[in-house]
Amino acid sequence: MRFDLITIFPEFFSGPLDHGIVRRAREANLVQIHVQDLREFTHDRHRTVDDRPFGGGEGMVLKPDPLFAAVESLLGHGVGDAAQPVPRDPKTAIILLSAAGKLFTQETARRYAQLDRIIFICGRYEGVDERVAEHLATEELSIGDYVLSGGELPAAMILDAVTRLLPGALGNEASSLNESFSAPADPAAADAVGARPAVPSAPGLLLDFPHYTRPAEFRGWSVPEILIGGNHAEVAKWRRAAALEKTRRNRPDLLLPGSR
Ligand code: SAM
Repeated sequence: MRFDLITIFPEFFSGPLDHGIVRRAREANLVQIHVQDLREFTHDRHRTVDDRPFGGGEGMVLKPDPLFAAVESLLGHGVGDAAQPVPRDPKTAIILLSAAGKLFTQETARRYAQLDRIIFICGRYEGVDERVAEHLATEELSIGDYVLSGGELPAAMILDAVTRLLPGALGNEASSLNESFSAPADPAAADAVGARPAVPSAPGLLLDFPHYTRPAEFRGWSVPEILIGGNHAEVAKWRRAAALEKTRRNRPDLLLPGSR
């Protein structure tokens, strides 16, 4: 998969994408990452990417022309205009990061992991000319209900969440199947813990179960006895119940009303 990050701060990404799973995925050529300096698509001496908002008000807004030119250059073709928009490749997402976008979730990450390419547009200042959201981006995404100062951190987070779902990115493929926000694997097990059944039309989601490692006793706090006993069926049962309990405590909104 190829990722492009369009930003006015290209140096921002040296660091966050150079560690752990993303670094290994880059080295194994599972992902290619290209950071694009937006200012390369300006034509004035000051390399201006922003301007004052029409209608007045605070701050500056990222102009549409450098952003359209940057995306078109990366795509290798134009996206058209109001009279003649060019159809898009369904295997390429062009994501505008925005606090006012749709919420990014694990489900979105799974969908993106099926694509060939993702181009991220990182906003700054008061935001981005709305024509970018309407006519250039294929999706406008938020990573949560808070306002950050730029789209670079959200882009790096989405890139990370998608990369670890690509086949071969994790050492153990099962790791991503049993993580938080997964439907319980076995519908019977789902019934047993009262969560939603694992069918796509009813996304029943649980948080991950609690993990423990050595020492078995630390400052007087012990690891649950059942995890040390070596009975795999009992361990699996305990983990399902513990995942449900934790979901009830921290994220009851993920469960059916009757199971909260
Ligand atoms: N005026 C905007 C608003 O109230 O929604 C906030 C602009 S913010 C200061 C600048 C940029 O940061 C945005 O254009 C966007 O790219 C990014 N950003 C801020 N919060 C975000 C979030 N929760 N999710 C994704 N991107 C975000």
